[in-house]
Amino acid sequence: MRILLSHGDGGQHTNDLLHDVIHNIFQDELLREERDAALLRAESEHLAFSTDTFVINPIEFPGGDIGKLAVCGTVNDLAVSGAIPVYLSVAFIIEEGFPLKKLKHITQSLADTAREAGVRVVTGDTKVVEKGKGDQLYINTTGIGFVNPAYSLSYEHIKPGDRIVINGGIAEHAASVIGARMEVPLSTTIQSDCAPLQTVIKEALHEYRTIRFMRDPTRGGVATAMKEIAEKAHVQITLQEEAIPIRPEVRGTLELMGLEPYYMANEGKVLFIVSEEEAEELVHFLNKKQGHHMAAVIGEVHEGRGELYLNTAIGGTRKLGLLSGEPLPRIC
Ligand code: MG
Repeated sequence: MRILLSHGDGGQHTNDLLHDVIHNIFQDELLREERDAALLRAESEHLAFSTDTFVINPIEFPGGDIGKLAVCGTVNDLAVSGAIPVYLSVAFIIEEGFPLKKLKHITQSLADTAREAGVRVVTGDTKVVEKGKGDQLYINTTGIGFVNPAYSLSYEHIKPGDRIVINGGIAEHAASVIGARMEVPLSTTIQSDCAPLQTVIKEALHEYRTIRFMRDPTRGGVATAMKEIAEKAHVQITLQEEAIPIRPEVRGTLELMGLEPYYMANEGKVLFIVSEEEAEELVHFLNKKQGHHMAAVIGEVHEGRGELYLNTAIGGTRKLGLLSGEPLPRIC
């Protein structure tokens, strides 16, 4: 069975789709109430609110699919803002003719990831566009999280001497998608790092009170995220190329394509800006967690005015800017 235009007309077919697929898979009371808006309870006066739209191509890749990604992207933006993600909205834009079985599979993956991330999908939407007017499936998610006001994360707290810590190898999401796009498969399958980070971030924030700021280096990669932070915090950041963790197969794939790993997307990585005193302890803490064993201190904050430098493995220094141009469209 395939998705018909009538699945998006708001009538009987739309209702069937809602009940057979969406409600069945998410099993959420609030969603099942089918109000025009979900009525929510807030446990904090401080809310974090974030939205993201996912247009990745292909919609399935090693280590994930567009459903899993749609949860991780939004949940991680809330988590790096110091919030506990709680509620999610999900909107599907489906191309006419999309297989129903595949839609169920992706919705299940989205629901499983939401459960893992501790968020409830409480409202949503489905639209269908004519064949050829969309590319299979797009998903938007919007999330609400509760902020613990005890944690104050701000650019203003970033000081010279602070260290940059990352929780694992870079560019794995981009390399996995490149692999999935290749007509001739790569010799090794690279898994995307796509994962919800709310638990490890919550524990890190609780343990290490000198975490000044966090950012998830998604589109634009580590270099773009660090350059933005350096500019906003009015500091200079220097990264050490030799310290930046990267799996050899990821490096190899990107070299083959002439792509710089520092500008490649991650979907399960977080950059911490933390005091010098707690940086190594934070790395040890992360190393003990499953999936974070490649965590490392990768750089340092200096006095400056928004510059980002990379001390290269061969002893040189490169100035890095924001990503310019789009080497890999539709990566998320
Ligand atoms: Mg982000």
